[in-house]
Amino acid sequence: MSLQSSRGTKDLLPQEAQALVEMIQQASALFILYGYQLLATPHFENSEVFARGIGEATDVVSKEMFNVLSLDATRRLQHGEPLRAEEKMALRPEGTAGVARAVVQHKLALPGTASSKYWYVGSMYRHERPQKGRLREFHQIGVECLGAAEPSADAELIVLLMQYFEVLGIPMDAMTLKINSMGDDNCRPAWRAQVRRFILEHANGLCTQCQQRADTNPLRAFDCKNPDCARLLTQAPQITDMLCDSCLEHYAAVKSLLTAAQLNFVEDPRLVRGLDYYTRTVFEVQVDAGLGAQNAIGGGGRYDKLLEMFGARPTPGLGFAVGLERIKLVLEALGALNVNLPSPQVFVAAVDNESRSSAFMLCVELRRRGLSAEMDHQHRSLRSQIKLADRLGSPYCLIVGPEERAQGRFTLRSLTAHSEQALNLEEIVTVLNTRVSATSGNTAAKQPGGTSSP
Ligand code: AMP
Repeated sequence: MSLQSSRGTKDLLPQEAQALVEMIQQASALFILYGYQLLATPHFENSEVFARGIGEATDVVSKEMFNVLSLDATRRLQHGEPLRAEEKMALRPEGTAGVARAVVQHKLALPGTASSKYWYVGSMYRHERPQKGRLREFHQIGVECLGAAEPSADAELIVLLMQYFEVLGIPMDAMTLKINSMGDDNCRPAWRAQVRRFILEHANGLCTQCQQRADTNPLRAFDCKNPDCARLLTQAPQITDMLCDSCLEHYAAVKSLLTAAQLNFVEDPRLVRGLDYYTRTVFEVQVDAGLGAQNAIGGGGRYDKLLEMFGARPTPGLGFAVGLERIKLVLEALGALNVNLPSPQVFVAAVDNESRSSAFMLCVELRRRGLSAEMDHQHRSLRSQIKLADRLGSPYCLIVGPEERAQGRFTLRSLTAHSEQALNLEEIVTVLNTRVSATSGNTAAKQPGGTSSP
């Protein structure tokens, strides 16, 4: 049997890979307007980074992590020898913990300086049960803003998230932005205790996992997908009734800024995000089109305690992450995925064997001038080369034969207008460049949401 990709993983074939590349390019262009710089952290970290940063009791850490062991460590483990702390590593299940670790390690967010803004992109790994929109290796783009405590930072981040989705081609009215405040160290413990009491008092109506959550992580019960639990938990104490004055003020200011920015949002007092580090503002964007149960395309929140957990001085922070595979499913369902794999701008065809090295050199020269050129490497006849040029979607075929070589002028045949011109290299470059600017003018007209290429 031939080998297959692992369950929950996906090969990104060119069309799909190109869609992701374009999402990354659009992120890069937009995030720069908000002052974000790219930061790349390793795909695996010491497990402690995730245990400390995300929380031991979260599903992500306690159930879904992929541990990484060297062969040597595996062998020693099999012989009953203990592992050294630095040998316990895991593939990153999300991006924030690694960024927080890097920011503290490299002293990137010092008190008294302007807020530090970083974005990242890459694979994340979670050992979940695969289903539509839920993979074991998936791609996220995320941002982290460190050092900013003001509600305007929360609102700015949410505005950026929604603008990004819009630039990608998801209309505002197809998305639901849900927000909540999870309180802080002042008010959250009392809420947590009340939710715990509620779970214990209503244990009979809840699934065994929610019952266990009473002692490990009661707030996670709000995320339970069991319909009986979800129904019962609508009666559980709500954080919004228990926020302390400063959290209430912060939350009100965030909402007022979102309203000023003309963003529609829905307050959901039961929105708790899966990772332990959140304080105050949390948000999630949901879309129905193209997704089943996994309908969140992005989310995030404020994590004012996270950097301290990594040994920094108190440093507020906030961030979001979006899932690229889910965005692609949504764009497809909305008919807004418009990815064109680039075609060569010109196909250089040799009339006979003697002209092949000239065709090769013309390709080299054209590429050195920044144009995409393709040629045949399989000894096709001229007719087949022209057919191939057409199949590749090349608008021009440049024909090189003995006569053309002698004159230093080559036949540029338009495969769309079916006309021919005899031109020297510089003239060919001018014609091809003129076509590029005409085509990119059309592409620009398709923004936002246009993901076409010339
Ligand atoms: P989270 O880190 O859980 O807040 O997830 C942020 C975003 O990543 C979600 O809104 C999804 O779009 C995406 N995501 C999370 N888990 C998965 C997964 N297993 N497969 C695909 N996308 C995911």
